Formats: sequence, C-alpha cells, structure tokens
Amino acid sequence: MQVNWRLIHAAHNTYAVLAAACGQEGYLLYRTDTPQDDVTCYSINSINASRYRDEIASADCITIVGGPHATAYPRETAEYADYVVVGEGEFTLPRLLMQIENGSEGKIPGVATGTWYQPADSCVRLDMYPPFSLRQGYVEISRGCPFSCGYCQTPGIFGHCMRHRSIDLIAAFANRYKDSRFVSPNAFAYGSDGIHPRWEKIAHLFKKLKNRIYFGTFPSEVRPEFICEESLSLLTTYCSNTRLHFGAQSGSNAVLDRLMRGHTVDDVIRAVELCNEFSIIPVADFIVGFPFETDEDEKMTLDLMRWVARSGTVHVHRFLPLPGTPLSGTTARSLLPETENICGKLAYSGKLTGSWKDPEIRFFRRPSNDIP
Ligand code: SF4
Repeated sequence: MQVNWRLIHAAHNTYAVLAAACGQEGYLLYRTDTPQDDVTCYSINSINASRYRDEIASADCITIVGGPHATAYPRETAEYADYVVVGEGEFTLPRLLMQIENGSEGKIPGVATGTWYQPADSCVRLDMYPPFSLRQGYVEISRGCPFSCGYCQTPGIFGHCMRHRSIDLIAAFANRYKDSRFVSPNAFAYGSDGIHPRWEKIAHLFKKLKNRIYFGTFPSEVRPEFICEESLSLLTTYCSNTRLHFGAQSGSNAVLDRLMRGHTVDDVIRAVELCNEFSIIPVADFIVGFPFETDEDEKMTLDLMRWVARSGTVHVHRFLPLPGTPLSGTTARSLLPETENICGKLAYSGKLTGSWKDPEIRFFRRPSNDIP
C-alpha cells in the first residue's frame, strides 16, 4: 500500500515526526502535492483548512486528515475526509494504516470517521518515537503545557501534563547536525512540571550537546517568569543564540488575568531587564485585538511594546479565535488608530516583526526575517 503525505508548508515538522513514526512500522510517507493512491495524509490548521477542504473531499484515494483543526473539529472534518486522526498521530496513524491495509474493521482510539468517533485513551511517550528520520526536523524536547492561555491550542491537543524526551535521545538526534534547534511550549521548562524549573536538567542537556545550541528561539520560546539569573547564565554559557524569545502578550495585567497567562506585566519587565544585564537581546511576543480589551488596555500594550523595543524587538500578532481554545467563537476587536501607527513605525525601524493585521502570521507563517 502506498502512503502519501500532502506537502503543506506549515506542517513540515509534523511530517518529520510522523514520517519517522510510520517508518518504524514499515510505512514510508511519500511526499506529494496532489492526493495520490492509495492513501494521502494531510495535517491542516484553522487558517489553511478551507484551502484543502475541496481537494480532500474530491480525492479519488483514501484520505486521512489530522492537525490542530481536525483535532478541534473531528466530526466536521469527517464530513469530507475518510478518516480523521484526533490529537497526537505517532501511535494512531500507523495503527490506522495497518487497519486500512488489512481491510479490518474496528474503532481505533483517536480516530473519527463519518459514522463513529473513538476518543484517544492514551498519550504518546516521546522516547518511543524518533523526532525525525530521513527528513530533518526540529527536535521536540517537551510536549503538553500546564497553563491554559485563552488563545492557545496546545493544552487542548497535548494535555496539561508536560512530557519530555530523554536527554540521551535528544542529544543523539540533535548532534547529527551543526545546529541544535528545538520545539517546546516553554524551553526553560524542560525536565519539569512546567511550573517549577529544573535548571540542573537543562544544564545536563546542554553538556550532552556537541554543536551550536539555539534554545529559547522559535519554535522553543519561553515564558517570561522563567527568565532569571540561572536560566540566562545557562544560556550565555552554553548557547549560541544572542536573542531570547518569550511571550509577553499584553501590557495590561487585567488582560493577562483574563487570558489566564499566569504571569504579570512586572514579570515581563523583569525579564527584559535581566536580558539586558546578560547582553541578550529580548524578543517579546504580543497579541493585539483581544475581544475584551479596552482602549486603555491596548494603550498599555503599546507602551510596553515601545519600552521593550528600546533594547530588543517585538513580534506582534493579530488575535485569532482558534477552535478548541477558551476564546474560540469570539471576535477580534478593531485596533486603535495609534496601534496601526506605532506598529508601523516600529516595523519601519526594524523593531517589530510579525503582523498586527494578518493573523496567519501569528500562528502558521513566519516572516522570512524571523527564522533564526
Ligand atoms: S501560550 Fe504557551 S504557556 Fe500558554 S497555554 Fe500555550 S503553550 Fe502553554
């Protein structure tokens, strides 16, 4: 049985991960830009779902669809796909392929079809699967997040309990290339429960890596309250990045509370000041246009963005109410004229990346100058 992977730029790392997992079970995933016999797999997000819907619906082959959008809307996706993989795919996808190949029937946990949906009954142990095989990807060091930020799909897809890949396995894969780059919901939480840092684990990991280490850069940004003397000492001792990317999101404590971010504006200010002390350039993420923001909240965010930009850069995103998040179903508010004006000026001076207008850049597309 030939199994194909529909090339979608935003799902490159998912392809690396699932090609490795399926390869372990004897299924090669052939890359294709059209649906092909016998089976074609897709990973779609909420921005590109509408772009692929007709292609999937009219495909002459068996289609399997996963990814954040399919996970948030399994039944709707099953209206146009033959099978939907809901949540993590490393265990589920090879199992489903085996069943299709054998022609057997039965409900597979983590799969939905037009007639049934069997929720997953387990989660993946990262050490059971290589982070990539033939196709290089970022090494995913941790999965899951104990926080519940209102705009974020991560806990809904991967759960609130952090899981980590072991140091030896991370090193075995990361050391194959000249740079070590990682995927994590919060790289400084490696080895921990996601709330109480374990610096000794990160030090141990760094000592095992023999190449240039990029840690706390996309796609392994960190949370601001994890930026402290210990973490910055580790960064400056072992890592090659001169920038540290973290989520600030708002200059208003009221907004941070509504978002359930679990940190304050003071944590952001302290993080920036510490970066300055350690000669690290801070890069802070902000989101504009939350539905419940007041004009005053938005102005406080602008003030904080301008202050961060004095010593670093800001990465601005337009709020997008993603399915499967607490803010799903809400609507982004219109921005103040001064937000457009200030963001434009910061962008013009090279102090702002991202887009305060285009939500696609927030979640699924990076401007080329932002890729480290
Ligand atoms: S934004 Fe970060 S900290 Fe918040 S829920 Fe998502 S992964 Fe966790």
